[in-house]
Amino acid sequence: MAKIKAAILGATGMVGQRFIEALIDHPYFEVSALVASAKREGGLYVDTGRWKLETPLPERVGGLKLIPPDADKIASTGVGIAFSALPSDVAAQLETDLAAKGIAVFSNTASHRMDSEVPLLVPEVNAEAIDMVRDKKGFIVTNANCSTTGLVVPLKVLQPLGIRRVFVATYQAISGAGYPGVPSLDILGNIIPHINGEEEKIQREAKKILGAYDTSSKRVKDAGFEVYPTCIRIPVVDGHLEAVEVEVTEKRSEQEIVRLFETFESPKEVAGLPTAPKKPVIYRAEADRPQHRYDVNAGEPRERAWGMAVSVGRVRVTGNFVRFVLLSHNTRRGAAPGSVLNAELAYSKGYL
Ligand code: NAP
Repeated sequence: MAKIKAAILGATGMVGQRFIEALIDHPYFEVSALVASAKREGGLYVDTGRWKLETPLPERVGGLKLIPPDADKIASTGVGIAFSALPSDVAAQLETDLAAKGIAVFSNTASHRMDSEVPLLVPEVNAEAIDMVRDKKGFIVTNANCSTTGLVVPLKVLQPLGIRRVFVATYQAISGAGYPGVPSLDILGNIIPHINGEEEKIQREAKKILGAYDTSSKRVKDAGFEVYPTCIRIPVVDGHLEAVEVEVTEKRSEQEIVRLFETFESPKEVAGLPTAPKKPVIYRAEADRPQHRYDVNAGEPRERAWGMAVSVGRVRVTGNFVRFVLLSHNTRRGAAPGSVLNAELAYSKGYL
């Protein structure tokens, strides 16, 4: 079958580059249009000099001309799908306009995440939410903020125990701030105990993703727990580590919690998708794992699901409180391949 032509919006940014990487030899989608700011219109992607990944830039993609964030110009390229990695103020109207033109938009930006008719999707957690776009031609599907995505996967594992409250401290990589991101003089040899807007995003997005999806109204009722985050920027390039404490209703031993993490599986409809990791949670038994250096790219099969698993370790239980540490890749699990996985789910359900 012919592949669906795809546009990448914000193609020169950190997440946009991860989209290009995630779509190399993709079985369903083919990169056909690259969008950046209007000042770059007509230039070749390769000439921007913005490619910052270790994976070589595919020659065909490097030879594409950049187009501006104009819905008519994007639609005229014949794309059926758009992967969005734009700043949220630019994305808000453009994504709506593209959806109105019949294009399926899979977005990383915050603009539409909390819209009641828009799925906020992490397939291993709430695959059923994709049904919100069934029977629509153009639509928007969002994925969560990068620190929220890493958190909701292990929270899904604990949800059957009844989550009352979640306390989380995040230690977030500088690539989370895009390129060029945090100035080197602010972050080298330093830690910054504040990330603008991040805590609010975790608070509201986690409740929507772990909420109850009502099939008849196609709406989500927020989960009934609160999240109390503290977000901190640290000087590593990729990966968000999070120290989590969850108050649950039903007590379990440490061994039982570890077993829950070790045996967690993706829903069947997600497990076989090209970008789905074989194991969405990888439990690390070592006392000093997960670590950025060794675990940020966890995920099999290589290379499509590289960085798509959430690593969990340091499980401790005190009464009704379960504590653990997680690590997830912010521009892979928390951004571009995460969004590609959303699109694969839509494709496999016949919604594209
Ligand atoms: P980035 O590195 O700063 O890239 C921004 C992209 O948007 C670039 O391609 C840039 O093009 C383009 N752009 C900027 N202003 C524009 C305008 N006025 N019109 C059209 N295009 C414009 O940012 P990023 O980290 O990739 O993040 C992109 C989006 O994904 C943001 O909404 C962010 O919140 C979200 N997100 C990021 C992460 C992460 O870990 N980084 C994770 C999840 C979600 P030029 O090169 O032409 O300026």
